[in-house]
Amino acid sequence: MTSLQIPLVDLRAQHRVLRDELDAAIQRVLEGGKFILGEEVESFESEFAAYVGTAGAVGVASGTAALRLALLACGVGPGDDVVTTAHTFIATVEAICHVGARPVFADIDPATYTIDPAHVEAVLTPRTRAILPVHLYGHPAAMDALEELCAHRSLSLIEDAAQAHGAEYRGRRCGSIGRVACFSFYPGKNLGALGDAGAVTSNDEELLIRIRRLRDHGRTEKYLHAEIGYAERLDAMQAAVLRAKLRHLDEWTIARRAHARHYSELLNETELQLPHEAEGARHAYHLYVIRSEQRAVLCEQLRCAGVASGIHYPVPVHRQPALRGMAASNALLPHTEAAAAEVLSLPLYPELRSEQIEFVANCVRRAS
Ligand SMILES: *Cc1c(COP(=O)(O)O)cnc(C)c1O
Repeated sequence: MTSLQIPLVDLRAQHRVLRDELDAAIQRVLEGGKFILGEEVESFESEFAAYVGTAGAVGVASGTAALRLALLACGVGPGDDVVTTAHTFIATVEAICHVGARPVFADIDPATYTIDPAHVEAVLTPRTRAILPVHLYGHPAAMDALEELCAHRSLSLIEDAAQAHGAEYRGRRCGSIGRVACFSFYPGKNLGALGDAGAVTSNDEELLIRIRRLRDHGRTEKYLHAEIGYAERLDAMQAAVLRAKLRHLDEWTIARRAHARHYSELLNETELQLPHEAEGARHAYHLYVIRSEQRAVLCEQLRCAGVASGIHYPVPVHRQPALRGMAASNALLPHTEAAAAEVLSLPLYPELRSEQIEFVANCVRRAS
């Protein structure tokens, strides 16, 4: 068994199964001759909006672009504060900086790794304009409490759903709860393109119109530009691929959840902290993340056994050199710091086989 090589994610396994569907989708775009926006993009947008459960979706160039355009459309700009988490991929915070606003960090709930609404309330300022929770690893943030905070103060609630395709919170899909939500289709995400891609979802038609305009040079007609916008459109090739893959997303999420349950059964007797699914939450398991004080040893033993693992994320955003002097980065975030030192992601993808999960779990058990 020691010759088993188990990667963190295996996109080739997925693409082998979908070969014919992807070939057909790509062929259709080649023959259609339309490569930027167009029918293929519009079809994906309506199919994805139906999937998430919103009035509409706007396809954009990446998850980062989705975040930036969503913030702009909510009117966030210089002089504004946006409360978010430092336990995330840097793009969440970059987008806040791109629009000229200031990120303010609230700590996480150590059980779910998502932003703690009580701490959000504690860091609100008169300048706070929006709250930007991340459904990290595929676990929904505590949206009820965040919605209430926003409603009382007329703040925009912007979801970073880049890791949460198919996740649900009290019966609602992630991406349909806030004023606006942002998805990434980076190849390794639960729904991944064959390159960069993203989408914004919302029930607010005016907001969707504004984002459609912003992604395409502020255009209202062919050579008429109502405002200075961006070149952040979704292309037809990625849209066609995403349409083919979207039909499989539900079965993939079910497989991810089954694999996570299998891991948790096998690791139940260890001292490790295992992923937690809060009441009312449906975890989409973008990542299966455990926690260990012996992370470095564990990681090395897995590597020796041919098992990949990852750290999401080793340096919290408020500690990044890029944020020096910019954010209110002196924030005290003890749960964020502790998580960054201890989290470890195990291999997880829909095509993972039972014997591979057993092999990984045995390695983890032996090492811990
Ligand atoms: C991947 C990711 C993004 C950025 O998406 P890109 O498509 O890579 O620009 C933003 N936020 C989170 C939490 C992510 O995981």
